[in-house]
Amino acid sequence: MLLKTFRGGVHPHDYKTLSENSQTVRLEAKGELIYPMNQHIGAPAKPVVAAGDRVLVGQVIAEAAGFVSAPILSAVSGTVRSVSPRMTPSGDELPAITVENDFEYEAVAGFGEPRDYDRLSKEEIRQIIRDAGIIGMGGAGFPTSVKITVKDDSKIDYVIANGAECEPYITCDYRLMLERADDAVLGMKILLRLFENASGVFGIENNKPLGIARLSEKCAGSERMSVQPLLKKYPQGGERMLIRAITGRKINSKLLPADAGCVVVNFATLVAIADAVSRNIPLIRRVVTVTGDAIRVPSNFDVPIGIMAQELIDAAGGFDGDPEKLIFGGPMMGTAVYTADLPITKASSCILALKKDPTAGARPSECIRCGKCLYACPEHLMPIKLKNSADARDYAAFEAAHGLECIGCGCCTYVCPAKRRLSQTITMAKKYVLAEKKKGAAK
Ligand code: SF4
Ligand code: SF4
Repeated sequence: MLLKTFRGGVHPHDYKTLSENSQTVRLEAKGELIYPMNQHIGAPAKPVVAAGDRVLVGQVIAEAAGFVSAPILSAVSGTVRSVSPRMTPSGDELPAITVENDFEYEAVAGFGEPRDYDRLSKEEIRQIIRDAGIIGMGGAGFPTSVKITVKDDSKIDYVIANGAECEPYITCDYRLMLERADDAVLGMKILLRLFENASGVFGIENNKPLGIARLSEKCAGSERMSVQPLLKKYPQGGERMLIRAITGRKINSKLLPADAGCVVVNFATLVAIADAVSRNIPLIRRVVTVTGDAIRVPSNFDVPIGIMAQELIDAAGGFDGDPEKLIFGGPMMGTAVYTADLPITKASSCILALKKDPTAGARPSECIRCGKCLYACPEHLMPIKLKNSADARDYAAFEAAHGLECIGCGCCTYVCPAKRRLSQTITMAKKYVLAEKKKGAAK
């Protein structure tokens, strides 16, 4: 089948072989679990428990604080130790609930009971997904209930499952393709119930031939579901790139996927939808890849959300030496952290430990006008122009050069032979401009 893709992007070595054949192993938290309130895009969740309260598996411990928000549910039974600021993977100290596991795993009534999604109305399906705290699990963290609430269901003609997993090293979605393909298909069928005119497309990069084969086998004979192999290229998993590659349609920062007739959900999110709607299991666990040359046994673990990253690293045999770099997420868009004493959140797909920091000692020099950043930018921007206007704090020029369309993919920095910190500067400038606009709107 024809491989589809988008214009621009880069081809970093994918390092998937480190962990792609490691079957997912289930882990339980040995000690406390920490639930930061900002695990999603939008309003932080609001705690509904206090220190000393006993909680059960599947119990809401923090409720959604607005339409663009998501509740947080406990993955264990135990006692709430505190509701106070804790260090989070974003690097900020933010309000969090700490629960001490009692290892009894006593669950709320109805937890895990089978449910026939065919008997549910669209409203009931959407409410279940909202109540289950499901968000985009590829890293973006956008509440799924908001994504699937569109003005007109009949105008959606594609539900796209994002199985690109284009960031190097990460293999958690790939393992789900092999181990839970039936549930991914079930999640897709549930979403297709909401959008009666839509086709369901599984977009998977061609460095996952077994994943493509497994899903193709499951979709065989279906009139509404198919698999679209995609060329392995970063950032193929970006929402805009995926829509462009699969449908040929374009969206920008002012448009939503629904404006192009699309709903895009991450592969793990699809499995979470199947769990919530058909089994009454909310989003309380996820698969996380622990990998890199500084990890003794690169692995994929199915873990309770809230478990500490260090417990996963220990389960993977610990560090092989002293890593120079530790990242939550992938090497292109992940967040570098200085400690593993941080909780796994709903959006944590990977813990990456590297013996050598690939960016250490990189000395930026003058631009040699090679144009590589221009060709690599998937948004067809002029990164050097954006960086120059950001450096000069000329934010009018930054906006005029479409700086707000930057998706922060890092391709420009990756290809720059002069080691210029293009994406970092552009991302900072974009944040500043958006914050100023927000302030202006609030006046
Ligand atoms: S300018 Fe933004 S979108 Fe373009 S390559 Fe750089 S980081 Fe990616
Ligand atoms: S890639 Fe680097 S050196 Fe080449 S044009 Fe862009 S900023 Fe200049």
